[in-house]
Amino acid sequence: MATTTVDVVCPVCRKRRRVKVSDVQYSRGLTKVVVGPGSDCPHTLLVFVEPDLSVRRVQNIDQAGLTGTPEPRGMSLRGVVKVFGGLFTDMLACVLQHRTLVLCDDIDVSITLYNTLSRLFVEPVRLGVDVLIVGGCHEAPADAYVVNCKYFIRVRGDVDRSAHRSLDKFLREAITVDDNDAAVLFVRQKISALMRAADIFQDKIRSRTLARDALTLVEQSDNIKIRYEDIRAVLMILRARGRSDVAKRIVMGRLDEF
Ligand SMILES: [Zn+2]
Repeated sequence: MATTTVDVVCPVCRKRRRVKVSDVQYSRGLTKVVVGPGSDCPHTLLVFVEPDLSVRRVQNIDQAGLTGTPEPRGMSLRGVVKVFGGLFTDMLACVLQHRTLVLCDDIDVSITLYNTLSRLFVEPVRLGVDVLIVGGCHEAPADAYVVNCKYFIRVRGDVDRSAHRSLDKFLREAITVDDNDAAVLFVRQKISALMRAADIFQDKIRSRTLARDALTLVEQSDNIKIRYEDIRAVLMILRARGRSDVAKRIVMGRLDEF
């Protein structure tokens, strides 16, 4: 998929911003792209691009709650899990796998969903890069995971589901907590522990190692406790990082299969 860039000027601070538009997007008519805050311009922009790549309109959507407010508007985690169910787990896996996630058809719901999703990761989930918000679902790049936010359905795309068991468990545990911030922090802490474990595997595992020993290594290096059943999620993160070589060195015990 080819990507073209279009330059726009931020209507608030007049700084130049670069917008990425895929050929799939602009060949199908007017494209809406949301551009998150950049290093020079702190504004979040909704950009409308014509099929000939001219810019029809640039709109500042900071008021939509994406930036600048200490408590960005989002659904509660419990609300998102209730509304999107297993689709939300897919979306988490999608971000962990560095796949492009496209939210379409309802910009308002898309932005709300993005806000909630992005809070679950320590590393930034970049709007316009990791997550695209587009008006029409057909505007999504061909290889993306696409969710229609009006009808709450998956349009197309697939994810590696080997971390789902862990992710579902984190979400289920989190939404038993009444305080939304606490629920969000709980999931974020769990996911960041998986990422950290993947870092440690990457740094330290040089030869075939039993999964149990690998977990002990993580605990000793960083005092992070990962459950045995979460090791598959760690291996998925390694594969997504292009480190299948490391993932293959971890030997799961036959009797430990869950
Ligand atoms: Zn600006």
